[in-house]
Amino acid sequence: MTSNTKYIFVTGGVTSSLGKGIIAASLAKLLQAQGYRVTIQKLDPYINVDPGTLNPYEHGECYVTEDGAETDLDLGHYERFLNVPTSQANNVTTGRIYQSVIQKERQGKFLGKTVQVVPHITNEIKRRVQILGKSGDYDIVITEIGGTVGDIESLPYIEAVRQLRWDLGEDNGLVIHLTLVPYLSAAGELKTKPTQHSVKTLMESGVQADILVCRTEHKLPKDLRRKLALFCNVTTDAVIQSIDASTIYDVPNLMLKEGLDKIVLKKLALESSTPNIDIWNKFVHRHKNPKSEVNIGLIGKYVELQDSYKSILEAFIHAGAENELKVNVESVHSEYLNDENAELMLGHLDAVLVAPGFGERGIEGKITAVKYVRENNVPFLGICLGMQMAVIEFARNVLKLDQANSTEMEPETQHPVINLMEEQKNVKDKGGTMRLGAWACQLEPNSKAAKIYQTEDIKERHRHRYEFNSAYKGQMEAGGMKATGFNPKTKLVEIIEVEDHPWFMGVQYHPEYKSTVANPHPLFVAFVKAAFKHKKSR
Ligand code: GLN
Repeated sequence: MTSNTKYIFVTGGVTSSLGKGIIAASLAKLLQAQGYRVTIQKLDPYINVDPGTLNPYEHGECYVTEDGAETDLDLGHYERFLNVPTSQANNVTTGRIYQSVIQKERQGKFLGKTVQVVPHITNEIKRRVQILGKSGDYDIVITEIGGTVGDIESLPYIEAVRQLRWDLGEDNGLVIHLTLVPYLSAAGELKTKPTQHSVKTLMESGVQADILVCRTEHKLPKDLRRKLALFCNVTTDAVIQSIDASTIYDVPNLMLKEGLDKIVLKKLALESSTPNIDIWNKFVHRHKNPKSEVNIGLIGKYVELQDSYKSILEAFIHAGAENELKVNVESVHSEYLNDENAELMLGHLDAVLVAPGFGERGIEGKITAVKYVRENNVPFLGICLGMQMAVIEFARNVLKLDQANSTEMEPETQHPVINLMEEQKNVKDKGGTMRLGAWACQLEPNSKAAKIYQTEDIKERHRHRYEFNSAYKGQMEAGGMKATGFNPKTKLVEIIEVEDHPWFMGVQYHPEYKSTVANPHPLFVAFVKAAFKHKKSR
């Protein structure tokens, strides 16, 4: 090994959805708070090259990094917890692994050898795991392995971990296994058997868990911890309880109490000290002790699924805490919204956010929502598709361009106020071809945006193919919708504001991706504040 980066592998057993990402992020937070430079990586065993082509129903939100990678939503948690940007290197899928191995094979790089899962696929996994460590930017790399031990798809990853443990040497790597200790209410007992089996399954692949993190609804008594340690071949202090928490933001403190950071550092032969998480705790305190509350509508079409708008919901939590307000997010299904029921569905809300999205389903409801809030002076934030819908609504109802639309929905529309970006016109492939990642944006001096950001130069993350059609800019501005943020090179419009409205903004980018505990996003903070002001004025 060239660098002395330490590696922590997080595997999951018994069932999915135990919160590996949150455990990884919480541990990383505690290590970071002791002065270590930490990053987290997610290995996803599915065959899609990235989650960009996955329906939100399948996999929740697609998170976008600064460098334009379309990634698993766990990377959002990593950034929100650590306040350090991630990149393409932080998310690897089986599809990506195979794609690069097959590409090398086509280039003749394997010199006539038979290309196999072991060693070629596992070597590529190992290389991807070590890219971050070899950058010299990190003391510790935490690698979360998606899926559950025993899945066919996970096998090459577990095998790569087994090999890496040998390659890295004794103190340089460890495995944390996250399992479930279920409570059987009929028996009134916590059960260790699923954990025993899961550790055994891991062992069948030659990997011994060093630390067990046990998800549980009830406290794990001492004797049960001893039993788990005995049967699972770990020390008792390496049995960590992860009890259900009312908020994910409690988990770092719960892990601190359990000493997860201490045992990890001990096993990696690193020094441990008391982590300084004052900023974190201040946030948690504000989050849990709001002085008042606001009701904000989230108009979207994936509202049944919490994960689809994960970053938006988290950004509201950060902004709420900053304002000492509880933000109740009320999901409104855009498909069922129309002019007749708008008052009923939206009338009680203190502010409305129209969500990002793709395709035609539910867009007329989004346009209805924009019309309602514009005419009734309700604070409005439109994100990506939400901004595009605000432009269409304004063109139709204020400029009286009845047929105004986006060419995404109606390719032959008479008034394409939103149309395909020039560089998108020849794009055929769907995966990884949108306008992605962080782009510079210049704000109009004295605009609401410039006041909120307190600067005129910002950088925000994008994920879209369509844009505001600048041919309509003159008409729009004359009608009262101002373009207040531009790409400095291409002059693409990135922000619109309605002048004679207390708070009406649409942004072509996704501010939610950049909101963190330590840095709540200024747009969300201002939006929540505007919601409270609106509430009080009624
Ligand atoms: N479908 C729109 C586009 O591609 C908006 C995308 C989004 O909301 N992320 O431009």
